[in-house]
Amino acid sequence: MNTLLRTVPLGRYRGVAVGAHWSTLVVVLLIAQVVAVSFLPATAPGYSPVSYWLVGVLAAMAFMLSLLGHELMHALVAKRFGVGVRRIDLWLLGGATELTEPPPTPRADLLVALAGPGASAVTAVVAGVAATALNAAGGPALVVSPLIWLAAANVLLAAFNLVPAAPLDGGRVLRAIVWWRTGDQARGERVASVAGRAFGLVLAVVGAGEVLLGQISGLWLVLMGAFLVVSASAEQSYNQVRHQLEGVLVREVMTPDPPVAPGWWTADSFLHACTADRHQRVFPVISFDGTPVGVVSIADLVRVPDRANTRVSDVAREVPTARPGEPVLDVIGRASPTTGRNVVPVLEGGRLVGVLGAEDVAWATEISRAVRLGDRETSS
Ligand SMILES: [Zn+2]
Repeated sequence: MNTLLRTVPLGRYRGVAVGAHWSTLVVVLLIAQVVAVSFLPATAPGYSPVSYWLVGVLAAMAFMLSLLGHELMHALVAKRFGVGVRRIDLWLLGGATELTEPPPTPRADLLVALAGPGASAVTAVVAGVAATALNAAGGPALVVSPLIWLAAANVLLAAFNLVPAAPLDGGRVLRAIVWWRTGDQARGERVASVAGRAFGLVLAVVGAGEVLLGQISGLWLVLMGAFLVVSASAEQSYNQVRHQLEGVLVREVMTPDPPVAPGWWTADSFLHACTADRHQRVFPVISFDGTPVGVVSIADLVRVPDRANTRVSDVAREVPTARPGEPVLDVIGRASPTTGRNVVPVLEGGRLVGVLGAEDVAWATEISRAVRLGDRETSS
């Protein structure tokens, strides 16, 4: 993965991996700056800039924690409905909880979506009550003020997320309601996606207008709007693939008995042998006794400095494998066979029986528009 996209693992909570992208730091600093330079001097006057900055950083970190709480509630409710949670990430534009599959029923979909804004609302109430109590007890403004800010920020977070536009939580709510009313999940997804692209476009246009009028903060709206348009579109393409490949098994789609790379050959001799077959660029690698040990691409081998003295098995990459009887969708979620420089070795009883690659998946999605793959009799 690109280094810019990589997230720093923060730990695990109830089996869910939590991470933060480096851009989270940018958000913490920007929030700290707004709180320290504008909000606190106006609402709690008479303190030193150092105290404002200290409290500003603490408030920003408290906000990120409340955002994490929002995402964790999505994850925990999803798990209650038996939906796997791949990971939670914080980044520039907030947080993201990645589920392994969509919730199984409209009710589950609705409750998973509402859990996040619900958590933000609870945080807002707790912070608001604490601020009121402290204020009544004569607590210092430098403590009361950031609590009020935290409450307001969480109200805004919940409200923005409830806009009915994918991929925001409100988009999930819309999807669940359409699914519930029509019994058609795909229709719910389409409606939420169209709303997501429309809302994203509106945000981007409003933001661009602000920038043109000299308000540089409009860039955030442009960024957020563009993100919504791109994610709503990507999500919709994935949903289509998901519906097309529903119930399709690996054995129906894989390339059986593919050419393999013998691990004990040198990189040089294998590359020369490759010129006989010009159609394959990624190969499963097997050891001398026929055990699969990974995959290797022509590009991997070409990059080796000393090709005459390097074995293919030394260059092989370990990759996730698949079983012939498992759903293709599970494999896509786990092993990304569609990146082009990867194939997924398909193993049965420890032996290689086929590979699943980008071409196989593309073929399956295209042909499944005409032929129901799951219903076919298969010989393997
Ligand atoms: Zn959410």
